[in-house]
Amino acid sequence: MKGHKAFVAALDQQAITDAIKRAEGNCSGEIRVHVQPKAWGGDIDTVARRTFERLGMTKTALRNGVLLFIASEEHRFAILGDSGIDQIVGGDFWNAIAARLTEQFKAGEFTRGIVEAVEACGEQLKTHFPFERGDVDELPNEVSFDDSRQDEH
Ligand code: CA
Ligand code: CA
Repeated sequence: MKGHKAFVAALDQQAITDAIKRAEGNCSGEIRVHVQPKAWGGDIDTVARRTFERLGMTKTALRNGVLLFIASEEHRFAILGDSGIDQIVGGDFWNAIAARLTEQFKAGEFTRGIVEAVEACGEQLKTHFPFERGDVDELPNEVSFDDSRQDEH
């Protein structure tokens, strides 16, 4: 499968949003999935970090947002957590999730891979950031897209 539009068309966005809702029902963390064609203007980790800030994800009360940033046409992704998470967990925290997602991407199982990654994030987060009564949904659960530069390449 090639192209951002084909990637987006093949995604089951509702399934991803539902997975985020379920995961956030188990922890206080906020999970977001963002898809854009390429990691424009830098390496994917830098661009993901920039996107993290642009989406307002540094504004959660406990600084426990997690972003799954996907460059659809490169079939690459980055998973990053905010400072509240980074202070607690080691560098290996996301490795198992990332390894599994890499496998799923290679197999073309994009929705399933993303849903499983979201579920795994929720599992990891609830250890350190358990759900508490009165939890606020601080960030939207819908998949975020940016294809504004889609026609430039
Ligand atoms: Ca929340
Ligand atoms: Ca949310």
